[in-house]
Amino acid sequence: MIRRLAIIGVGLIGGSLALSLRRNAAVEEVVGCGRSAANLERARALGVIDHGCHDPAEAVQGADLVVICVPLRAMRGVLAALEGAVEPGTVVTDAGSVKGSVIEDARAVFGTPPAWLVPGHPIAGTENSGVEAAFAELYDGRRVILTPTAENPEDAVERVSALWQAAGAQVVCMEADHHDEVLAATSHLPHALAYALVDALASWDDRQEIFEYAAGGFRDFTRIASSDPAMWRDICTANRAHLVAALRRYQEDLGRLTEALAAGDDDQVLRVFENAQEARAGFLRLLEGRS
Ligand code: NAP
Repeated sequence: MIRRLAIIGVGLIGGSLALSLRRNAAVEEVVGCGRSAANLERARALGVIDHGCHDPAEAVQGADLVVICVPLRAMRGVLAALEGAVEPGTVVTDAGSVKGSVIEDARAVFGTPPAWLVPGHPIAGTENSGVEAAFAELYDGRRVILTPTAENPEDAVERVSALWQAAGAQVVCMEADHHDEVLAATSHLPHALAYALVDALASWDDRQEIFEYAAGGFRDFTRIASSDPAMWRDICTANRAHLVAALRRYQEDLGRLTEALAAGDDDQVLRVFENAQEARAGFLRLLEGRS
């Protein structure tokens, strides 16, 4: 049971965490922290937080656990605001989608990443943002990756693991750079591709007709292009090197498919499609096994 949880950034990710912990009776009191009074009031009205404040240093007072759920661009500022404010025994984690940049932010503020900061990333989300989009089931059966630093004591990592498990998630640990490389391929690349595809089609001369006749397949493929552009700009630029490598690799594969089509190599086209169908079926089985 968490006695007092502080959520800094009460949007989709932070709000859903609070709701799932409440659903599982795993938390007594939730303090929310954010810039806008209206958002904190909405979070209180929705039963996400008990009360709110605007100052991260105030929010963490008396908290056993703190979760920073602000956009990546705001991480450094929040960490700076926590300097000297985190009490002994309090453990802080974050939900940022890129881990190297958060650890870099911690280095920039504190020199060495503090022992109390255990970096983490829930592999769960939707294309919607804000506390209105939060829901208690978001983390059910989903993975959370922790990327502990050399400074983290084992019990701090265990407390953050227990937090996410209490929210319904499964926790794994890995090295931060490896996390960023894997997520560049599985999350940041698909988002960049979805945005790029819709942007490209929207600029073609016959766009009116393209969108008029687009149907379910187009809708499925481009759902994530409805995500918050500023948040995804932050994620993609914070993971620039790994994402550029993934995009270049994908462009080579796409180039080979283009050539096979142009050359009339129908067998090769079928091989690519069959391989993709089989790989996706395996992925769906994996997902089902986890839920
Ligand atoms: P969100 O719904 O937009 O919520 C972000 C919250 O942070 C807002 O409620 C906002 O409230 C607050 N905030 C924004 N700027 C701030 C600042 N400068 N200082 C303090 N608070 C600030 O975003 P989200 O989807 O929950 O994402 C939050 C974090 O989780 C991001 O780091 C993201 O990379 C990560 N993440 C997202 C997903 C996803 O699919 N969405 C998945 C996994 C991880 P105020 O405007 O009132 O301050």
